[in-house]
Amino acid sequence: IYLCPTGNLDDCACDVETIDHFNNDQLFPKLQNLLESDYFRFYKVNLNKPCPFWTSSSHCGLRHCAVKPCSPVKCIKISLCFQYSADANKQLEECEKEQHLGAVDVSLRWTDEKKLYYSSNLDLTVCGSADEASPDSQYVDLLLNPERFTGYKGPEAWQIWNSIYEENCFKPYTVKRPLLPDSFRSSSGGEARKFYSWLDGQCVEKRAFYRLVSGLHASINIHLSARYLLDDNWFQREWGHNVTEFRQRFDSELTAGEGPKRLRNLYFLYLIELRALAKVLPFFQQPSFHLYTGRPEEDKKHKEQLLQILQLARSFPLHFDERSLFAGDEKEAAKLKEDIRLAFLNISKIMDCVDCFKCRLWGKLQTQGLGTVLKILFSERQIEALPMSSNQRPSFQLSRQEIVSLFNAFGRISTSVRELKNFRSMLAEER
Ligand code: FAD
Repeated sequence: IYLCPTGNLDDCACDVETIDHFNNDQLFPKLQNLLESDYFRFYKVNLNKPCPFWTSSSHCGLRHCAVKPCSPVKCIKISLCFQYSADANKQLEECEKEQHLGAVDVSLRWTDEKKLYYSSNLDLTVCGSADEASPDSQYVDLLLNPERFTGYKGPEAWQIWNSIYEENCFKPYTVKRPLLPDSFRSSSGGEARKFYSWLDGQCVEKRAFYRLVSGLHASINIHLSARYLLDDNWFQREWGHNVTEFRQRFDSELTAGEGPKRLRNLYFLYLIELRALAKVLPFFQQPSFHLYTGRPEEDKKHKEQLLQILQLARSFPLHFDERSLFAGDEKEAAKLKEDIRLAFLNISKIMDCVDCFKCRLWGKLQTQGLGTVLKILFSERQIEALPMSSNQRPSFQLSRQEIVSLFNAFGRISTSVRELKNFRSMLAEER
C-alpha cells in the first residue's frame, strides 16, 4: 500500500484516475446496493432544532425543500428494531437513564488519551448524537428524500457557507466580509491571493480541515447539478444533469481556477473517508456485531455485503497516511485537535440554521458522517484492541446512528465522484 505523503496535500489526489476507476467500477455499485437496505435507509434526526446563532429571517417555503416523513407503520417497526446487539441495547438503556437525570453533555471532547469522540458523562459513541436522543427526532427515509436541487440559494445559503468557513477555518484575523475566494476576488483583485497565501501558511492539519469542508461543499453542489429540476409543469417534472450549472461552478475558466481546486478537495475528502472505512473493518468483523432489522436472513446478507465493501476499501492502493497529521509536538498536537474539535462542533450547530429542511437533513447527516470518520481515524489503538470474543466489553463502539451516517456520507462522496465521470462525458460531447 502506498501511503499518500501529507506534506503536500495535493499529492493525495494526484492519481485521480486510480480513484475514479476504483470507485466507479468497483466500490460505487456495491455501496449503492447496501444503502438501499432497511438498516441504512432510515436515519434518525431532529430537523426542528432552532438555530443557536441568529434568528432565521425566512422559513424556506420551497416545495423541494420539504422532507417526506417515513410511513408510520414502517417507522414504528424500524424504531423498535434498530438495535444491533444485545450489548448495545443494554448500553442504550443506560444512556436513557442518564438522560432522564439530565446528565448528558452532548459536546465533542478529547479524552485524557487525546482521542476524539462524541462524549457525554457516558460515551456518546454508544448513546448516539444529541439528535438521536431527542424526543423531537424522527426517522427519515433517505431513499424518499434524495439529495438534489432544491432551489435553496442566495443570502441565506451564503450566510451558512460563510459562517462555516469564516468561523471554522481558523481565520487569521477578524473579517467582516466572507472568507471565500470568489467574494474576495470580486471585492478586490489581490484578495484571493491573500486568502491562499494565508491558507498556505497554515499547518497541514488546518489546511486539511479546510479541504474537507470545501470537498463537502463541492459534493453538495455536484449533486444539485446532477439532479437538477430541468422541467416542472402541470404535465411533468423532470430531474437530470444540468451541464451549464456544473460548468458555472467547476469550469476552470468560469471560476478563475477555483473549480478544479474544489474538485481536488472532493477527492481529498474521498481519500480520508475511504481510509476510515479501511481502518474500521475489525469493528464490523466482531462476531457480536449484527445489522439488526428483524429479518435475520437479509441482515446476514447485508453484513456480508458490508464486510466486502470494507475489504475492498482496504485493498485500495493509494491510501492517505493520517499518522503524519497531529504528529508534531504533543502539546501543540493536543491544541490543534481541540481547535478542530471545536470547529467541528460549531459546524454541526450551524447545520441547524439551514432553512431548507432537505438541505439540513443531508448537511447534518454528512457532518455526523465526517465526525465518525475522524473518530475512527484517531481511535486506531482502540480498534486494534477490539476483543474477538463477545464476553469482553469492547474498547471502541459505534452507534447505529454513526454507522448509518458514516456509510451514507461516504455514499454521497462516492456518488459525486461517479457523477464527475458523467459530467466529463457530457462536456466532451458538447465540444
Ligand atoms: P455557493 O455554493 O452558495 O457558495 C458560496 C461561495 O462559496 C461561492 O461564491 C464561492 O466563493 C465559495 N465556494 C463555492 N464552492 C466552494 C467550495 N467547494 N470550496 C470552497 N469555497 C467554495 N442546494 C440544493 O439545491 N440542494 C441541496 O441539497 C443543498 N444542500 C445544501 C446544504 C447546505 C449545508 C448548504 C449551506 C447549502 C445547500 N444548498 C443546497 C445550497 C447550495 O450549496 C448553494 O449554496 C446554492 O446553490 C447557491 O450557490 P452559489 O453558486 O451562490 O454558491
